[in-house]
Amino acid sequence: MRITGISLLDDNYAWILRPEDGSACAVVDPSECEPIRNYLLGEGLALGWILATHHHQDHVGGIPDLADVTGRPRVLCSRADGERLPDVNKFVANGEEMMVAGSKLTVMLVPGHTNGSVAWHFPDIKAVFTGDTLFTGGCGRLFEASAEKMYDSLLRLRALPEETRIYCGHEYTTKNLKFALEVEPNNTKARERLGNEELRRAQEEPTVPARLGLEKLTNPFLRADDPSLMDRLGTKSPLETFKTLRKMRDAF
Ligand code: ZN
Ligand code: FE
Repeated sequence: MRITGISLLDDNYAWILRPEDGSACAVVDPSECEPIRNYLLGEGLALGWILATHHHQDHVGGIPDLADVTGRPRVLCSRADGERLPDVNKFVANGEEMMVAGSKLTVMLVPGHTNGSVAWHFPDIKAVFTGDTLFTGGCGRLFEASAEKMYDSLLRLRALPEETRIYCGHEYTTKNLKFALEVEPNNTKARERLGNEELRRAQEEPTVPARLGLEKLTNPFLRADDPSLMDRLGTKSPLETFKTLRKMRDAF
């Protein structure tokens, strides 16, 4: 399996999952049709699946046109988010497993950013597509579901194997890590990582994906139960710490 990122809109990523044997590929979060279609045509690839992490336009805007011009891909989304979208063929449930682009997919429903946000986990290739739920270095805003649900979603993502790579929906890593250092100024791993990611950006390279193991050391939203972070923020529980971090990040 090869995974290719396509930059769309201002700072969005769509991800193309391409089986080695040249069979139909899948795309995650196509906010626009044209760049995806051009890529598929250029490479001579058929599109078998569209995976939507959530209903926001900057993740699904390209779906109607893409469904038209590339044959009949299956469009997958959660029921809560997918009911607001045209063209969804299949509503997925938490824990559901299926084969997509030649690889096993396990569905994780991760409410928080939206009620029906999905993380598409491919355990055999150690990749998870997290949309606007878990970002590299941070997490998404709470637009629909409660902080409790979002924190639970993040904990379930955190429990995936350390070598899992996080493919998120936006290029936000350096801004996120600046916030991380604001709340954990002594986190040397986060400081080192910010330096590395800034270098990547200066060379116009993506900072996504990132390994979950590194996220656990540097992403404050995955560190809300860290005693020294709780101490610093003066919070009494991991959930309270998460809520405080989210409020601070909204204002950052
Ligand atoms: Zn969103
Ligand atoms: Fe988004």
